[in-house]
Amino acid sequence: MTLWPSIAGLTNGHWAVCHSVNADAQTTIANLWHTRAMRWTDKGRSKNLEDRRGARASGGKGVKGKLGAGTIVIVLIAAVLGRTDLLETFGIGGGGGGGGGQASSQQTNAPAQSSPEDEKSMRFLSFLIDDMETVWTKRLSSGSTPYEAPVLVVFRNGVDSACGFASSATGPFYCPGDHKLYLDTAFFDDLAVRFKAAGDFAQAYVVAHEVGHHLQTLLGTSKRMRRAQAATPSRKNELSVLLELQADCYAGIWAHDAAKRNLLETGDLREALTAAMAIGDDTLQKQATGKVRPESWTHGSSAQRREWFQRGYDQGSVPSCNTFANEGI
Ligand SMILES: [Zn+2]
Repeated sequence: MTLWPSIAGLTNGHWAVCHSVNADAQTTIANLWHTRAMRWTDKGRSKNLEDRRGARASGGKGVKGKLGAGTIVIVLIAAVLGRTDLLETFGIGGGGGGGGGQASSQQTNAPAQSSPEDEKSMRFLSFLIDDMETVWTKRLSSGSTPYEAPVLVVFRNGVDSACGFASSATGPFYCPGDHKLYLDTAFFDDLAVRFKAAGDFAQAYVVAHEVGHHLQTLLGTSKRMRRAQAATPSRKNELSVLLELQADCYAGIWAHDAAKRNLLETGDLREALTAAMAIGDDTLQKQATGKVRPESWTHGSSAQRREWFQRGYDQGSVPSCNTFANEGI
């Protein structure tokens, strides 16, 4: 349930450990982030935003502070090869946990230090999670499943969730066990610098994708997909791709509604599409190993991710996002 290709074996049935997080190049980031601004309204912090940046996660032991370049390489290689042993050796990821709806361990809470820039970022994320609540509440109001807003947890370095402990290297993820989205904003730095996918609308895409997974949980799609995976293990990756592409499509629907309300600036759509392209399985595999292995994809190619986001954006309807049309899911 991440934005990123999963690492086989580290999934616990709910979310997958993935990779990311840049260590350097911090100075250019602020500029990159704010080159273009979505038209958003600052309404302060959302009640659905949980600031755990000052909390110390007790579940993990490996990752402290920023990840170095070497760590990123290991995570990337492990992601592509499906080598969980590499991650365990280096104390990255781990996670697992039961995912049974209970936090695996407690976090020590302390007030987070927030620079004006950080606070702006928190308020932007607040706007996003609230705006997505407005959009999806309205869209689901005619159906039998009402929308319940998820909580967006912002953390640093590591976090305890109902799905277990996750380090920042996991990348943004959604945990169905507690209906929360988990995000270390350092991920956006990585997106901007390493993947050249900067801009606040690229960030909006990331959040909207994870909200897409929340929708899939509410609507029962995730459960049906996991059942299908269990029934046909040989198609596990293939089915995972369909779930991820649907989350991209749902993200496109939110963008469609945002555009209708004139919230997008010129270039915003391109930011989201660039982000979707940057994290396609083929692109990441090529970067990591120079080789592309479609059978190991879990999130879809760059072209597919772009296409499904665009489809949601163009058509703006939930049925148009039925990536499972031929699966009976
Ligand atoms: Zn995902």
